[in-house]
Amino acid sequence: MKQMDTKWMHPAVQITKIITRIYRNGMTTTSGGNISIMDENGDIWVTPSAVDKGSLTPDDVICVKANGKISGKHKPSSEFPFHKAIYETRPDIKAVVHAHPPALVSFSIVRKIPDTNIIPQAKYICGPIGYAPYEIPGSEALGQNIANEFEKGYMAVIMENHGMVLGGSDLMDAYTRFETLEFCARTIINAKAIGKPHFLSDEQIEIFETQVPHDIPRNFESDYPPDELAIREEICNIVRRSCDQGLMISSYGTVSVRWKNDDFLITPSNVARWDIQPEDIVQVRNGKAETGKTPSRAMFMHQNIYRENPEVNSIILTQPPNLMAFGCTDVKFDVRTIPESWIFLQDVPKVPFGKQLRGDLTIPKLLSANIPAVFIANDSFIVTGDKLLQTFDRLEVAEFSAKSLVMAAPLGTMVPISDGQIEGLRKMFLQ
Ligand SMILES: [Zn+2]
Repeated sequence: MKQMDTKWMHPAVQITKIITRIYRNGMTTTSGGNISIMDENGDIWVTPSAVDKGSLTPDDVICVKANGKISGKHKPSSEFPFHKAIYETRPDIKAVVHAHPPALVSFSIVRKIPDTNIIPQAKYICGPIGYAPYEIPGSEALGQNIANEFEKGYMAVIMENHGMVLGGSDLMDAYTRFETLEFCARTIINAKAIGKPHFLSDEQIEIFETQVPHDIPRNFESDYPPDELAIREEICNIVRRSCDQGLMISSYGTVSVRWKNDDFLITPSNVARWDIQPEDIVQVRNGKAETGKTPSRAMFMHQNIYRENPEVNSIILTQPPNLMAFGCTDVKFDVRTIPESWIFLQDVPKVPFGKQLRGDLTIPKLLSANIPAVFIANDSFIVTGDKLLQTFDRLEVAEFSAKSLVMAAPLGTMVPISDGQIEGLRKMFLQ
């Protein structure tokens, strides 16, 4: 996956950027969590002990030299010993992320490992997951337990009654694994709150992996007129905003906007969503893509949606953690919760996994003025609209509605707005 270009970024800057992202996304507390990078000299850069993760600057990051000398204005993280143990065990690992994110901690305290077959992309990003028995934080014994798991080849290890630790070929790789795994954990928990989650088979995941359109003709250079450039900027803004709002993660999510006739611009395959840039966006013209770029694996579905639905001018396909609870169970997503939800979404059908694959017209034909959004089981939520901001608003309304339904589950049975009340809304707002 193409990620933030870290070649020119100092390790301390990378660490600050990623710990801030983790903190803002509710995946660590101020005091918990630590990150390290091993550089070419064998020196390890690590977050400091007892410094606020919400306001860390590159200046706060500590360097533990290969000879053991420490430079920096604080003490290194108290959990540094297990970072060191991982690097000693696994020369291929160049970055380590450790935190106590709520959903993965839930798995760690009931002593279970999340099944990453809940969504299609997680199995290969996370790999199989190890499990390290409890030991006192900061101890050599804990370092040993963790190193033992990494020695078996794992890149992600649950720490019993503690949290999660992940390795990567670089920091972005470790972060993507961390974020994707916490997302799986949240989705499984949310799905279990409302029903019984279904998981994908390995065969279904293999099919998903074959969908990247490496074979489409790529034979033109765009001349990038201003209206085309404006769409690129708009798509990047919405992708970043979706990441900020917890509606998209590094490893998943596609946005497209119709440009002229059935030609459109779409996000690429295998670019970390947080770091997407206008030049990464792919123009698709007459079913062909720009030279040198690979569009999203959802490209064919987007193309057919634009062809079948002239009123649709923008599409977002993503995996918000509460909507995916409905996407991964048989429970109906009943949007008759509050007037806003019903007005924005009306009814949201669900299609089986596989209906999103290349050549299938089920979803393009199912969408209409009255059906702006569809679930693809264990895959995603797809939402359409006219302007991209309107489509994004619809996505936010949908995720809020799903969150209210998930949160209502322990409280009691949802009483939907009645048919008569729905008719009132239809007359007032939709005619
Ligand atoms: Zn910890």
